This record gives sequence, C-alpha cells and structure tokens, in this order.
Amino acid sequence: MSHFSSFNYRNNQLYVEDVPLAAIAAEFGTPCYIYSSAAIRSAYQAFEHAFGQRNHLICYAVKANSNLAVLNLLARLGSGFDIVSGGELQRVLKAGGDPQKTVFSGVGKTREEMRAALAANILCFNVESEMELITLNEIAGQMKKIAPTSLRVNPDVDANTHPYISTGLKENKFGIPAAEAERIYALAQQLPNIRIAGLDCHIGSQLTEIEPFIEAAHKMLDLLKRLQTMHITIEHLDLGGGLGVRYDQETPPTITEYIKALCTATEDYPQQQLLIEPGRSMVGNAGILLTQVCYLKHSPYRNFAIVDAAMNDLLRPTLYQAYHAIQSTTKRDAEEKLYQIVGPVCETGDFLGHDRRLALAKDDLLAIMSAGAYGMSMSSNYNTRPRAAEIMVEGDAVHLVRARETVEDLYALEKIPS
Ligand SMILES: *Cc1c(COP(=O)(O)O)cnc(C)c1O
Repeated sequence: MSHFSSFNYRNNQLYVEDVPLAAIAAEFGTPCYIYSSAAIRSAYQAFEHAFGQRNHLICYAVKANSNLAVLNLLARLGSGFDIVSGGELQRVLKAGGDPQKTVFSGVGKTREEMRAALAANILCFNVESEMELITLNEIAGQMKKIAPTSLRVNPDVDANTHPYISTGLKENKFGIPAAEAERIYALAQQLPNIRIAGLDCHIGSQLTEIEPFIEAAHKMLDLLKRLQTMHITIEHLDLGGGLGVRYDQETPPTITEYIKALCTATEDYPQQQLLIEPGRSMVGNAGILLTQVCYLKHSPYRNFAIVDAAMNDLLRPTLYQAYHAIQSTTKRDAEEKLYQIVGPVCETGDFLGHDRRLALAKDDLLAIMSAGAYGMSMSSNYNTRPRAAEIMVEGDAVHLVRARETVEDLYALEKIPS
C-alpha cells in the first residue's frame, strides 16, 4: 500500500477516497486543504491495535492539525489530546474532546492557561521547569484544586532529525535536565496542591528510526526506578510523540513497529499506563494542499510553475527545506519539464518544491502531498492572503470544515485612529 493510501489515480484522475480532486476544486476553489477521514481513522486504529492489551492512552498532538472536524473525528474514535496552549484546550472542548484524556505540554504556560486547564479538570500538566511547578502549585491553591502533574524530563538523546524539531538534547529549551529531575520531583512531593501523576518526555519530531525512542524510554525507566525508591508513585509514563512519516524516500518505522517496540521496552512496568502524543503520524499523510497553476514561465535557466498556494499556506518547505511530493491531478502523456513550483509571495524563499519533473499546462491542479500535519496549523496571512479553505472527505461525502477566509476577516480587528 502506498503511503498516500487515500489518494489514488482512477482513469488518470487523482481522487481522495471516492471523490476526484478536480470536483473539489470546482466547488470550493483553490488553494484548499483536503483531509481523508479514512486515512486519519486508519492511523488512529493502527496505534490502538498495536497497543493490544497494554494499558495506554493516545493523546493526539493538537498542534499538528487543530481543525475542529479533525479533533472531533479523533474524539469520537476515543482519542485523548496533547495541547500546548489555552487556545488548543478550548478547541478540544469545543470539538467534544474529553478533558480527562487531555495533557498540557509546553514551556511557557501562562497563569490564565493554567486556570482554564484546572477548571476543565484535565488529566495532567506536563511541567517543564521548577518555576512553572511552583506557579502551578500557587494557582491550584488559589482555586482549591490539586494539579495532576508530570515532569517533562529532557533525556538528552539525539533524535537525528532537523535541528528545529529536535527537542530532547540537553542544549534544547525543553524539559527539565535529567540530573535535576529527582530534586524537582522531591519538591513536587512537598507542594500541597500538586499531585504527581506521571513522568514525561518528548525528544523531537519526524524521527525515522526507532532507537532514539527506545533510548529515551530506557532513560525514563531508570529514572522511574529511582523515583520509586523515593516513594514517588508514577501512574503513567508519557513517551511523547515524534514518529516520522514518509514524505519522500524516508523509511520511518510503521506505527505498529513503533508501538510494539515501546511496549516491549516498558514490559516490566505493566502498572504504568503508557501515554503517547502522536501528531504528524496521525494526520501527515491524510491531507494534501490542492493548488492551481496560475502561470508557467520559462527562462533559459529555469522553468517556473507559479501556483496559487504559497509559503503562507504551507510553510514547511521554506522553514525546514522540507520536501513534499507534488502530483498533477491529471496524468497526461505530454512532455515533462523540470519545474520550480513557486507561490505568489514576495520572497525568494516562497517555494513549494524545487526541480520537479512534471507535464504541466496553465490551470492544472497540483496536489502537494503529505500536508495534513503542520500545514494549515502553521499557515499565516502574510501578503494579506486569506487562509485556504479546509475540506474533509468521507467516502463520497465532501464536507467544508473551514470556510476560506475573506480579506474583511483579516482586517476586522484593525482600526484607523480618528
Ligand atoms: C509537537 C509535539 C508532539 C507531536 O509531535 P509529532 O512529531 O507531530 O508527533 C508531541 N508532544 C509534544 C510535547 C510536542 O511538542
């Protein structure tokens, strides 16, 4: 099975599930994000099945794709959530997610965000510094609540991924240094409005090997043992997210291999519930960005296809030099040329793909593949470009799950001083 299992050609036309992409463009315009609910469901179920009888909770990392329809689909499947802001908490609640299955990560939770999460009775705060711990205790005290807490410990393992998305090295801003974890757990034990619930780590994103995850798990278990001798009970072990997906030629472990390996690494600790926080691997290959060719421009040096999507819609190529496969929605027997696929934004960094061999004509539709994660959620309004529409497909049903923004939406909050 291809890694784009829900996006296939039928009679030379690219379909999402049972719907031709061209039909979606005709109805909703371009650029638009299109998600396959079947692909999301099948990723969730792969995680769920791989855990088998192991006590576990899947907490989908909301920041990968925070559309309410995506969150609602996952909530209905039984998923929990990993949030990194008060805004994401509000989305989870709005989408029907269960706060009792929600963990709150992030290095800079504000007091207000802590209050909202305490009021919602979330499952756990993943605390990233001593000062945050003390603040959480204070806020919980004011609210006469007890805050369920994990410390996010930085295991200092190299995830071998892009430096911007590597988070588990000792020089990164994330987590509490392993050497300080016991001292801060001992402090947490003394704080009246903190209840120690778990132990947490997250080492990075788009990991394509299993070894760093296992190394981190072993370091967490060593720490867990030491905490047990201090009479600190760890109810759950949160091993974070970070499983990579295939964008090009990468060969990340499958969801099943990854979960089986985590279960094996932790098999001597069946009392501890295992939590994971997958984002990209849940939705990355379940979505595409559909864009239309505006112009073709041929110079003696290069061929450009100027499309109606840009870096404001999909930042990953510009930000990380990330590769996204690009497919024409119509397969045709014309001559292929080497194209630079670029957007209309006034930045040389505004590209979606370099050196792509395609047979193109004006008005063709291109599918930027694997755009379900960190696509729409990282989009912006740079160049006063209204954000793309979002569409979710289920079999032959097409649902608009976020309307295209209008320019009026963009300046609605602005004022000219009188
Ligand atoms: C971003 C993030 C995740 C999700 O990472 P993916 O690579 O999308 O799986 C999980 N946990 C935390 C704390 C994160 O910051």
